Amino acid sequence: MEEIVRRLVDIVGKEAVIDKRELMESYLFDETCLPVRPKPASNCILVRPSTSEQISEILKLANEKKVPVYPRGGGTGLVGGAIPTRDGIIVSLERLDSIEVDKENLMATVGAGVTLGKLLKAADEAGLSFPPHPGDEGAQIGGLIVCNAGGARAVKHGIMRNFVKGLEVVLPTGEIVNFGGKLLKDNMGYSLLNLIIGSEGTLGIVTKAVIKLTPKAPYTLTVLLPFNTRHDALNTVPKILYAGITPLALEYVENEVMRISAEHLGEKWNVEGNVFLIAILSGEENAVYSEAERISQICIENRGLEPMVAERRDEQEAILKIRSNIFTALKKDYMDIFDTTVPISAIGKLADEIDKIAEKYNAYIPVYGHAADGNVHSHAMKKDAEKYERIKSEIYEAALKLGGVITGEHGIGKIRVKELSKLVHPKSLEIMKGIKKLFDPNNILNPSTVVEI
Ligand SMILES: Cc1cc2nc3c(=O)[nH]c(=O)nc-3n(C[C@H](O)[C@H](O)[C@H](O)COP(=O)(O)OP(=O)(O)OC[C@H]3O[C@@H](n4cnc5c(N)ncnc54)[C@H](O)[C@@H]3O)c2cc1C
Repeated sequence: MEEIVRRLVDIVGKEAVIDKRELMESYLFDETCLPVRPKPASNCILVRPSTSEQISEILKLANEKKVPVYPRGGGTGLVGGAIPTRDGIIVSLERLDSIEVDKENLMATVGAGVTLGKLLKAADEAGLSFPPHPGDEGAQIGGLIVCNAGGARAVKHGIMRNFVKGLEVVLPTGEIVNFGGKLLKDNMGYSLLNLIIGSEGTLGIVTKAVIKLTPKAPYTLTVLLPFNTRHDALNTVPKILYAGITPLALEYVENEVMRISAEHLGEKWNVEGNVFLIAILSGEENAVYSEAERISQICIENRGLEPMVAERRDEQEAILKIRSNIFTALKKDYMDIFDTTVPISAIGKLADEIDKIAEKYNAYIPVYGHAADGNVHSHAMKKDAEKYERIKSEIYEAALKLGGVITGEHGIGKIRVKELSKLVHPKSLEIMKGIKKLFDPNNILNPSTVVEI
C-alpha cells in the first residue's frame, strides 16, 4: 500500500490523503442497521479529490494495481453500498461541491458532493424548487443519483431518475464521459445516463450532474388523515389517486412510531388515531383547499376518522420532520429495514400479509412508507433476531407474489446481493454481470455490490 499512498499524494496532494485509521472512522460505515451492516476492511486509504481529473487518475492507478475503489457520498445509504469491505481506496466526493442554478432552463449544474440540504436551499433562493425528499438531507447528489433515491415527495413529480438530465461520470477505466445535458428530450442511442442512475457506484463515479428544478408551488397544505386500521388506511390510497388527486406526498405512518420519533426530536405527538395517511397537497390555494376537502371526504367514506389540517409552514415542516426521523429514532432497536414495493392496488394486501407474518412469529413488525408509490417499509426488530431470516424471506415472498420487488428505493448494496441473484431471472442477472464487466473489466469499482462477478 505504501507505493499507492505515495502515488495518491502525487495526484491529490498530501492533505487530501488519509491513511491513519483513527482519522477515517466516519468514512468506514453508513446508516445500514447495525446487526446486518458489513464489516469494513482493515487496510484502507481515504482520498478527498477536488476535480474529475484527479478521480480519473485515481481510477487509472487502481486499475494498474488492481486495487478496489469505494465511492463515498454522504454515507446515509441503508444497504452497505459505501462500506469498503476489501482493502482499498475510499474516494470521498465531498469536495466536489459547486452549484450553479440556471433559471432560464430551470436546471442546476451540481457537483456530486453537494448535499441534498444545500441543493434545496440553492433552489429555494433562486425561486425554484427541487421536489424529491429522501429522508436524510446529508445525502449527496452523487449518492442520490446512483441510488435512484425516492422519498416522500415522489408522488407528484417522481424519483431521482425523473430529475437527472445530464451526468459527468468517471468510468472505472479512467475516462471522463458526459451523458445527456440541459435537455428535456434525448434519444441518442441507448440511455447510458439511465444506466448510471441506480448503478450504486459500480459502473462509474458521478462527478457532476444537471438536475431539473421546478417552479415553486404557490401553496402547500398538509392533511393528517387518521384511521383505526392499517388495512383501511392503505386500501384508501388507490381511491384517492383514482379520484384524480395527486398529492406532493402521501405517506403512511403509525401512531406509536410517530410518538417515538417526536420524543427523539424533543417534540410532542399527541394525535388521536391508530394509523395515518399524511397528504401534502401543493398548487394554487383554492385548488389545494378543494383537494383537501375531497381527500378528507374519501377517507371518511372509507372508515377514516376526522381529518386534521396543518396550514402554517412550521406546522407542516414539523410533521414532515417527525415522519423523516422515524428511521433514526428507532434505529437502536432495528435488526433490518425492508423496502418492498408493490403495485398501489396491492399495498393494503401486502400490509395484511405482514400482519399475518407478525402474528405467525409473534413478532413486532412496524410498517410505514411512501403509500402512493406502493413502497412499504417494514422492520425486523432486534428482539426477533432469531426469526429474522424467516420473517425477511416471507415478507419478500409476499411482495413478489403481489407483483412487487424487494427494493423500491434503497437498492441492493452489499447486503442484498444474494437475494438479487436468487430472485431475479437468470438471464437478467447474466446481462447485469455482463454490463458490469464491460464497464469495469478488472472489477475494481465497488466490488461485491449489486452483483458478484
Ligand atoms: C434517516 C434516513 C432516511 C432515508 N430516507 C430515504 C428515503 O425516503 N428514500 C430513499 O430513497 N432513501 C432514503 N434513505 C437512504 C439514503 O439517504 C439514500 O440511499 C441516498 O441516496 C444515499 O446517498 P449518500 O450520498 O449518503 O450515499 P452513500 O451512502 O455515501 O453511498 C451510497 C452508494 O452510492 C455510491 N456513491 C455515492 N456517491 C457516489 C458518486 N458520486 N458516484 C458513484 N457512486 C457513488 C456508494 O459507493 C454507495 O454504493 C434514507 C437514509 C436515512 C439515514
